[in-house]
Amino acid sequence: MGQQAELAQMEQEARNMMHQGVEYGYIVCRKGKVITHGRESTGDPTHVTIDTRCPAGARPIALFHSHPNTGNIQPSDVDLREARRHGIPNVCVGIPEDGRVKCYKVPGVA
Ligand SMILES: [Zn+2]
Repeated sequence: MGQQAELAQMEQEARNMMHQGVEYGYIVCRKGKVITHGRESTGDPTHVTIDTRCPAGARPIALFHSHPNTGNIQPSDVDLREARRHGIPNVCVGIPEDGRVKCYKVPGVA
């Protein structure tokens, strides 16, 4: 399964998991051919702290979180910096109000 297919699957799953009103997220991981994720975190309307640890034996492929209340599906500079700092190759942002989820490559991470 290529990275595009993995991220498409991730977007599909994340769509149904977002909460209204507060940021929500988790690390998306791959173990062999299986897409899985780390611990779910819920924050406040403008911030969430995500546990970036993957389940044992899995590797991170994307940092996912929601942007409630704004409709802004672009990752912030802080979002991209955080992913780069952890060596995570993609950032995915979701909009809980309409269920959109979009993934972006993180510059500077292979
Ligand atoms: Zn963000």
